This record gives sequence, structure tokens and C-alpha cells, in this order.
Amino acid sequence: MSIILGIESTAHTFGIGIVKNGKILSNIKSSFTTEKGGLIPLEVAKHHRENKERIYFESLEKAGISEDKIDAIAFSQGPGLAPCLLEGMKFAKELSLKLKKPIVPVNHCVAHLEVGQLTNARDPVMLYASGANTQVIAYASGKYRVFGETLDIGVGNFIDAFARYAGIGFPGGPKIERLALESKNLIELPYTIKGMDCAFSGILTNLKQKLENNSPRDTQGGHENLQAGDTAVPSPRDDSDEPSGEPNYKLSDLAYSLQETVFAMLVETAERALAHTGKNELLLGGGVACNSRLQEMCKIMCEERGAKFFVPENSLLADNGAMIGFLGEIMFKKGIKFSSEELNKIDILPRERTDDVEVKWK
Ligand code: AMP
Ligand code: MG
Repeated sequence: MSIILGIESTAHTFGIGIVKNGKILSNIKSSFTTEKGGLIPLEVAKHHRENKERIYFESLEKAGISEDKIDAIAFSQGPGLAPCLLEGMKFAKELSLKLKKPIVPVNHCVAHLEVGQLTNARDPVMLYASGANTQVIAYASGKYRVFGETLDIGVGNFIDAFARYAGIGFPGGPKIERLALESKNLIELPYTIKGMDCAFSGILTNLKQKLENNSPRDTQGGHENLQAGDTAVPSPRDDSDEPSGEPNYKLSDLAYSLQETVFAMLVETAERALAHTGKNELLLGGGVACNSRLQEMCKIMCEERGAKFFVPENSLLADNGAMIGFLGEIMFKKGIKFSSEELNKIDILPRERTDDVEVKWK
């Protein structure tokens, strides 16, 4: 029997989950948000520093255990934003010294995949659609392999960047999802897939241009005056009474078209990976996977090709400490750990790739 505490801090979320024999006892988190603007790593790290103790004690309380019952401390070692990862690692090391318990460094992306076991997915292809990461991953021949990925930015960062440009704050995903429900008007956007890889920055530029052609530019080039659901006003460059000839794009139409286009791209890459690997289970992971339309599109694709489809609950899709504890426990049980005397051997790995992970626990 083991009780593992998992710490997540790769980006916007500081989370602590407690796992006992594959069962999640608690999963508490605090996520950095803004009404305007985006995510500034040093500010997010400050958020983590200010919330870590509270999250820790809340998580222990929810799990109904005292800290001396913890057998090991797992933490997200990477990939992620260095200032945020450092906060998680520092806290893990402090706890390791205080409780005299070992540390288990965990790869964040693999944790998203492995926690899928709780949905009964056995050997899935995972469509991992999160803020910074967008990958199609599966375990094959002794490694977690990346079959497809974004060639530029993560799909969540892409959605957030568009939302920020439209002046609707961070995180943009849930707001874009709500806006998309108000429209059924599909505006053509670039569709950029290369094999099993996707690219989003061209679509972002295209969407920004559509917004720019609509509304007066403020001095920052943003559109803070644009409210959800508004039809944007014409550009100040067109101050004559003549129609500009440019369509007047509604934010809801752009949100709808964004979702239809980029989710179709993601589903296409996931389907190719299923065909390529011969696997017949699709698992969703990452915060963007909370989106009901993405889930619906994946479900339809899986039904059409006779594959099984698995979606963890939202609290396990978005970044969270429980998934780190879950994989941490699997690794701990295979003897993968560092004692509190070996802490200097452990560092963060901000750029660790899924296929670099040495898999010693399968
Ligand atoms: P993660 O990095 O996995 O925690 O995911 C965070 C990302 O998920 C952010 O970019 C959010 O905007 C995005 N996200 C959260 N909820 C939704 C949603 N309902 N639809 C689309 N994206 C979402
Ligand atoms: Mg993630």
C-alpha cells in the first residue's frame, strides 16, 4: 500500500493530488487567470508561491490523511515554464526534507496519458490538446512516441492568444466555447495539416486580420473594447459612408469557425495515428479536451471507425496534481525514486520531450 502526493506546476495551475493504490483521494488546485492580457511566467510563479501551502493543507484535509502518512512526493519535472516548474520542485524538495520521504520526478505529458487508465483505456492513442502542448502520443515498442504534434504553438495557447487579442482575457478556451454556441456561420479559415502534424500560427494571423479589418485599433493593437457577442464596428480607415467591401466579422462566428476548423484538424491527426498504429482506443487529454465540441467530434470519428473513445473527467483533463501522483505511484512501486539525501541529483526539465522519457516502469 502506498500514498503518493503529486505536485503540478508546469504552467498556469498549481495543483496537489493525493493518490492511494491508484485511487484519487484528493485533487486540489488553483489556476492563474486574468480578465485582460495573458500569462506572464514570473507572475504565475508568484501565484504558485502564494498558494502552495494552502493547496497542500486543503489536499491533505480532503484526502483525510495527515502528512506523516505520505510515502513519496511526485512532482512535474517538465516540460513547462521554468519559473513555474521551479516553484513545484522547490516545494517537493522542502516536503521531502521535512517528511524524510523520497521524490519521484514525473513527465507531465506522460502523466496525462497514464491517468487515462482510470477511464479503463488500456492501450490508447492520446490526443493531448493543452495550452502549451499539442501532441498525438501512444506507447509503442518501449517508449511513449509522438506520432503527430504542433509545428508551432499549442492549440490552447493559440485559442488563448486569439481570445487575448479579442480582449476577452485568459483562459480563452471556455469563453470561445461559449461564444461558438451562438453561431452556426462557418467562415473559411486556413486548414494546416502536414501528415500527422498541425500548425496554428497562420490561422491565428488570419483571425487577427479579420478582427483588425473590423474594429478600431487601440494603441496596443488589441481589441479590449470588443465584447463577447458584439459585432465589431468598421475600421477608422473607412470613415467615408462607402461600404468598405470587407465583411463585418462577428466574434461568435469567428469563435465557431475557429473551433470547427482546428478541432477537425486535431481529429484528423488523431485518426491517422489510430490507423498508423493499429490501436483502437482514443483517449483525450489536456485542458482543451474539456471542450464539448472537440469531444463530440472525436466521438463521431471513433464511432465511424469502430474505435473506443475515452474522456477523463474535466478535473483530470486540465493540469492537475492527481495525475502526477497517479504516475508517481506507478513509478514509485517500480523503485524509481530519489531519497531526501539525493535531492541535488534532481532538476527541472523545461524542454523534456515525451519521446525522451526513459520508461523503466512498464
Ligand atoms: P492545460 O494546459 O492542459 O491545463 O490546458 C489549458 C488550456 O485549455 C488553456 O489554453 C485553456 O484556454 C484551454 N481550455 C480550457 N477549457 C477549454 C474549453 N472548454 N475549450 C477550449 N479550450 C479550453
Ligand atoms: Mg497539461
